Amino acid sequence: MSLVDGVGRSIDYLRLSVTDRCDFRCVYCMAKNMTFLPRQQVLTLEELQRLATVFVSQGVRKIRLTGGEPLIRPGIVELCRHIAALPGLRELVMTSNGSQLGRLARPLVEAGVKRMNISLDSLDPERFRAITRNGDLRQVLDGIEAAQDAGFERVKLNCVVMKGRNFNEVPALVQYAIDQGIDISFIEEMPLGDVGRSRGESFCSSEQVRAVIAEHHGLLDSTENSGGPARYVRLARHPRTRIGFISPNSHNFCASCNRVRMTVEGQLLLCLGQDNAVDFRALLRRYPLDDRPLVEALHKALRGKPLRHDFTGQGEVQVVRFMNMSGG
Ligand code: SAM
Ligand code: SF4
Repeated sequence: MSLVDGVGRSIDYLRLSVTDRCDFRCVYCMAKNMTFLPRQQVLTLEELQRLATVFVSQGVRKIRLTGGEPLIRPGIVELCRHIAALPGLRELVMTSNGSQLGRLARPLVEAGVKRMNISLDSLDPERFRAITRNGDLRQVLDGIEAAQDAGFERVKLNCVVMKGRNFNEVPALVQYAIDQGIDISFIEEMPLGDVGRSRGESFCSSEQVRAVIAEHHGLLDSTENSGGPARYVRLARHPRTRIGFISPNSHNFCASCNRVRMTVEGQLLLCLGQDNAVDFRALLRRYPLDDRPLVEALHKALRGKPLRHDFTGQGEVQVVRFMNMSGG
């Protein structure tokens, strides 16, 4: 069984948001004062598991749990255990801000989570707090170490680069990744949700990030692909660390898009950069014992998956939904 969209792209990757809530309020992701969804609008753990089961039965081979912060959802480890055991699923992976990994890294590995992406935007405690609005850097660094000790097949760092906030920390973040022996991806900020400031002012392209890294390291272009939108370079003198660039604004990667996203309200998003969505929560609740309407809706939705998004990096909000709804 495989899933193909209306223009022939094979879709085998689902990003599933398990909560819109978070213990951080990152400046690029959320507004200062956020209102979160009432409980009845959020998919239950059983509904999340049912969706995962249906999608895997139709050809999804990789699921990434995300949020909000997935690790603050009660019952997350059990959910992982159920999803990881689905026949046909190749890998269950997760994106986290790292704050809860000190206590949860090991249970997650035991539950079958294969890889962990952890966000890290600064190595300076005060700046880290300013970017996340209330994050504790020490807790996150401990979480990164716990993740490495726990035995994930891969731990990777993600960093959203912003001028005037953390652009000047790029070399230090690269050095941290080298010291830890792990990969790091630098992400261009995307114009999702009104976060109370113009994103254009702080926009930093992947080319600018690459240029500053090249001042310190010999860079070797790489054709490697980890199944996502990142383009990689290798460091001539540090073979264990790859540098990824995720450039939704400056380098459109829609032609090779292999994914769809499910928000925590059960809205299937066919493209992160477009507003069209299909309401799976209504189907889950209308047909509690019959998966066929969900299967039909999935195939129909994929036929209409947009060709591409139109992010430009100019800073204007192009999609009103905040990133914590779709999970990045
Ligand atoms: N809370 C987890 C975390 O921060 O890793 C998972 C959810 S978060 C929405 C997923 C990823 O999206 C993170 O790597 C975050 O840095 C990134 N992100 C959030 N808002 C973004 C934006 N406006 N542009 C680009 N990346 C963004
Ligand atoms: Fe929370 Fe992740 Fe959004 Fe930061 S990027 S506010 S950690 S969901």
